[in-house]
Amino acid sequence: MSLQTRKSSLTQRSLALAATAALALSAPLAVAAPAAADANSPSTNGQTNISSILSYDDVVKELKKLEKTSRFGVDAFTLEEAGTKVNKSEQGRDLYVATVGDGPEDVWLQGRIHGNEPYGSDSLLTLLKDLGTNGSPEYQLLREKFTFHIIPMYNPDGSEANIRHTILRDPVTGEPELGANNKEQRVDLNRDWTETGFVANESLAYYEYWTMVDPDFGVDVHHQGLKKQWGTDNDVTLSLGISLAPGGPTLPGIKNGEYDVLTRQMQVHVYDQLSKYGNINIDRYQVGNGQEIDIKGGVVSAMMLGLNYQGMNPEGHSNPVVFFETSGNTSEGSLGQKSRGALVRQNVLALKELLLGMADGSVQKVDADRWEEIPHQPVTGYQTDYAGIIQK
Ligand SMILES: [Zn+2]
Repeated sequence: MSLQTRKSSLTQRSLALAATAALALSAPLAVAAPAAADANSPSTNGQTNISSILSYDDVVKELKKLEKTSRFGVDAFTLEEAGTKVNKSEQGRDLYVATVGDGPEDVWLQGRIHGNEPYGSDSLLTLLKDLGTNGSPEYQLLREKFTFHIIPMYNPDGSEANIRHTILRDPVTGEPELGANNKEQRVDLNRDWTETGFVANESLAYYEYWTMVDPDFGVDVHHQGLKKQWGTDNDVTLSLGISLAPGGPTLPGIKNGEYDVLTRQMQVHVYDQLSKYGNINIDRYQVGNGQEIDIKGGVVSAMMLGLNYQGMNPEGHSNPVVFFETSGNTSEGSLGQKSRGALVRQNVLALKELLLGMADGSVQKVDADRWEEIPHQPVTGYQTDYAGIIQK
């Protein structure tokens, strides 16, 4: 980045950070985590064994291995190689993408935008391996129909530090850039795709790549705290989310409601397909108190809104995206090694079933209104990043 660009982005940073600070209070809260052991997530006594969590080096190593050993053309590369102007994390790490498949529709799959939410990496690397090596008709269909753009670790700095955010760094010294309060500045990368955002390098780097790809649809993989299904004592293992609430203040106004319908169809399809498997208990993602999330600065929200930042998306491309929330995260110490396999497997199944349903057209046949059948607390309002809480 040139000095001049850097300067203007620094001014932008201070503006956006003021906004971020205000929003920190309204960030989605994990539902109170029960300390006691439960069936799906054996007690970790508040300790997650970090040695069992994939590091940045593990991810890069696995990508290179899959590129070398896969039968069906896995290509792993950095954003520098892809040619984006900004292409490194705040700490200077390379940002990786892997592609596989040669179908006409592009699919965007991202994980670990929050560094303390690790299984997006495991799940997407497993899916990448399956797409790159599995010769069965199902995977053949996926490769013929789609070209996948897989980002297993969107936030490498946060992942290495085991924190949600990334920390802004001085590009020359590499030291944290202190804010007006003389403290390091943490940026939630999933609130940074806004007209006044793009404060962190990772955001602009992946945004430019998104404008190069113009995907057809996508999935974003997250974690939440431990959670019980509303009104029951059942542990939730997976919550299905749409970052602009269906029927809410924003989504019905996009593309004449096309995404309001399709995103619900996508998630109802996942709900239906995963009920075939045991030990998976699904509900709808909510932020607490019956509130739905309706954020515009989330990466996948900005994709649905067709954000045209600094004229980089002049045709106003947009695409629908849904997100998955796996239960448990590392910073609360609620992820145990025992549950890891099951949780990763659940995510991979959810991704695979969604992709197959999109490929064979069964998603588009789902009754979107059955979104109401997925367990959730009655909706009272919308938690936004642009107007506080909007009552229903
Ligand atoms: Zn997250």
